[in-house]
Amino acid sequence: MGRIPKNKSLRSASTDPGELGLIASIRQRADGRHAGPVRLGIGDDCAILRPAPGKEIAVTTDLSLENVHFRRDWHSPESVGHRSLARGLSDLAAMGAEPGAAFLSLALPPELTRNKGNTPSWLDRFLDGFLNLARRHNCSLAGGDTAQSPVACAGVSLVVADIVLVGQVARNRALLRSGAEAGDTIYVTGSLGGAAAELLALERDPWRFRRADPADPKTRHPHLFPEPRISAGRRLVRSKLASAAIDLSDGLSSDLSHLCEESGLRAEIDSESIPVDVMARLAASAGWAPSALRLALHGGEDYELLFTAPESARVPREIAGVPVHAIGRMSKRRGGMPLIALVTGKKREALMPGGWQHFRSR
Ligand SMILES: [Mg+2]
Repeated sequence: MGRIPKNKSLRSASTDPGELGLIASIRQRADGRHAGPVRLGIGDDCAILRPAPGKEIAVTTDLSLENVHFRRDWHSPESVGHRSLARGLSDLAAMGAEPGAAFLSLALPPELTRNKGNTPSWLDRFLDGFLNLARRHNCSLAGGDTAQSPVACAGVSLVVADIVLVGQVARNRALLRSGAEAGDTIYVTGSLGGAAAELLALERDPWRFRRADPADPKTRHPHLFPEPRISAGRRLVRSKLASAAIDLSDGLSSDLSHLCEESGLRAEIDSESIPVDVMARLAASAGWAPSALRLALHGGEDYELLFTAPESARVPREIAGVPVHAIGRMSKRRGGMPLIALVTGKKREALMPGGWQHFRSR
C-alpha cells in the first residue's frame, strides 16, 4: 500500500491490486453524494467547498494515535472510527458549526486492510464506525490520504488516524471561548464522568465490550461511542442564548479553566449541581475510582458542551433533547482567588485542572 494521491484520486502509481482495491473501496464507501458545502469531493487533486451565503468556515484537526488515544486490544475498529471523528465533530459543536466535510488520513499496518474470507478487515470496520457517525451528521468524506505504517518496534506497526473537519456557521455568530462576562451562569449539557467510568470498566474487562453496539437502545457507551452535541451547539447559535462555549474533551476542570483564561474571568461551581453520570456513581461504588464527582470533574472525553449565558437568559432545561444543568457562575478575577473555586455547602476549594488543591474551608 503506497501513498494515495492527494484527495484519493484513483490515479495511483502502483499496480498492486490490493492498493487499488483499498482506494476504490474507500472511495465507494465515501459515497459520491455531496452534502452541505462540498462541491467536489474525492477524485481530483483537491476537494472544493463552497460555504452557503452568510456563512463562514470552521476548521478543526484531530490526531488519533494507537496506544495513546485507543488500544486495538480494547477498542473495536468501529469504536476507533467513531471516536476519531467524534472528537472533531465535538469541536464543531462547541463553535455551533454545522459539519460539512471530513478529510481522513490513515497510516495502517498492511494486515489491517485485508479481508479474511467473509470477515471484514479492520479498515472496513473502522470505516463502518466513521461513516455511520458522519452520515448521521451530514458530513461527507471528501478526501484524505493513506500510507503503510512503518514497523515501530518488536515487529509491531501502529495505526494513526488524522482527521480534518470543516463546518460552517453563520457569519460572526460562532460560539467562542472568549465571550463570557462576569455574572454569566455556567451550564453543561448531559452528564459527566460516564466516559471515564466506561474506560475504567473497559480496562478491567475489554472482552465484555467487544460487541458493543451504539445502535443498541438498551446500553450507553459514552467512552466507546460518544455522541457529539452538534444539534445543541447549533441551537445555541440560533437562539443567541450563549455568550461562550467549549466542548468537554479534557474534563470539566481543564476545559472550564480554558474558558476562564480566554474570557479573562474566574469561575465558581457548585459541586452539588454537577450532573454526575450514573455510570460514574456505579464505578465509584465498585471501588474503581475515589469518587464519582472526581470522575465528573476530571475524567474527560464526555464531549458534552460547557457554555455560559447571561443571568437574564431563559435557558431551557433541555436543548435538542439533551438535559442542561446550571452549575455555577463566572466572575471577575481578583488577586489570590483561584481560577476555579468548587463550592460544597460552606466549603470552598480551588479546583485545579485535572487535580485538587485545598483552597479554603470554613
Ligand atoms: Mg475542543
